[in-house]
Amino acid sequence: MADSSKVVAKVVGVLGAGQLARMLAQVGQKSGLQFIFLDPAQGACAAEFGEHIQADWDDEVALKELGQRCDVVTFDFENVPEASATLIESLCPVYPPPLALFTSQDRMREKTLMKDLGIPVAPFMAVSSRPELIAAVEALGLPCVLKTRRFGYDGKGQAVLRLQEDMERAWQTLGDQQLICEGFVAFDAECSIIAVRGQDGATEFWPLTRNLHRDGVLAISMAPAFHSNFNGELQSRAEAMIKPILDELNYVGVLALELFLKDGELLVNEFAPRVHNSGHWTIDGAATSQFENHVNAICGQPLGSTAITHRSLMFNLLGEMPSAVEAIDDAYVHWHDYRKAARAGRKIGHVTVTADTQSGLEARAAELADRLGISAELNLENVLRPING
Ligand code: AMP
Repeated sequence: MADSSKVVAKVVGVLGAGQLARMLAQVGQKSGLQFIFLDPAQGACAAEFGEHIQADWDDEVALKELGQRCDVVTFDFENVPEASATLIESLCPVYPPPLALFTSQDRMREKTLMKDLGIPVAPFMAVSSRPELIAAVEALGLPCVLKTRRFGYDGKGQAVLRLQEDMERAWQTLGDQQLICEGFVAFDAECSIIAVRGQDGATEFWPLTRNLHRDGVLAISMAPAFHSNFNGELQSRAEAMIKPILDELNYVGVLALELFLKDGELLVNEFAPRVHNSGHWTIDGAATSQFENHVNAICGQPLGSTAITHRSLMFNLLGEMPSAVEAIDDAYVHWHDYRKAARAGRKIGHVTVTADTQSGLEARAAELADRLGISAELNLENVLRPING
């Protein structure tokens, strides 16, 4: 393994050149860093901010070139093949550590780690045959959720089983893969905690964020997640859940933990070893964004303050950028266009609205959703619904 002690990087490699890589490079360039992206996609949206090596994830020549030319390599998506990350690690430091990547690539490995660390998760069982599915449903009860262990994202590769007859249908669709069956969590809300850990082990946490998904895809994130004292108490509990994972994996960079809130208790759904969609609000609403601090951490620089500067609510923009972008130029509305080609359902940008008070935030968010014509489909009220423990 290459020497990973305190690198102050000048050239940063990124496996993946999507919007997360783009936002990393946007801030990194301001500190004088150069970026090289490896991604098989033509016209990948991060390429505007660096050099793009267009190659497959397992192209050894391209991977070696990246490892040799960079001072540190990171990634913007978690399905980088294990062998590719290991190959690069033999040439230069890879942060977050590939162990975090491999753990997150398999839901069974991920949930087992959390269970071993004493972090609350819904009950789960591995399923690789029909009899195992029947046994899991019997043990966990209905409803439960059957998911592929690998390559699931944005709600894909999973099915909620509510009735006995759902079992066969789900098996027909998913049964050719290794699966995990989880107890169904009838949550009151979904939220996430995002943390960053530096090469020296220093750790910072952003405020808990409340999330609303639509068709399995994140639609809205709001920070702080809940009201007053309740939020403060949950914040400490969420930090106590993510900290052991960071330490156990000797983590460097940003880590996101997706959580369910049910009857005042937090349960972990999954973690993402990278900057996360539910942390995009930090660009406009925190002293230091998740992107800046990820770059700081992997380059061996001190971490910036994660304090909230404005209450924030982010809408993901899917499909195409709304035509209202030009018309709405209020100082508290922050547009982010990833410059990706329009395609139904594709994440092509986000907009964050900020305010100093919760009532101000709610009024501005409702007005913006109205002006964008997305209030009806978004169910904004659901994310604003007060939960006080
Ligand atoms: P995931 O791909 O695991 O992030 O799941 C996508 C979404 O499905 C989550 O954000 C939840 O809304 C829902 N979900 C996943 N697992 C469960 C579960 N065990 N119980 C209830 N809802 C779930």
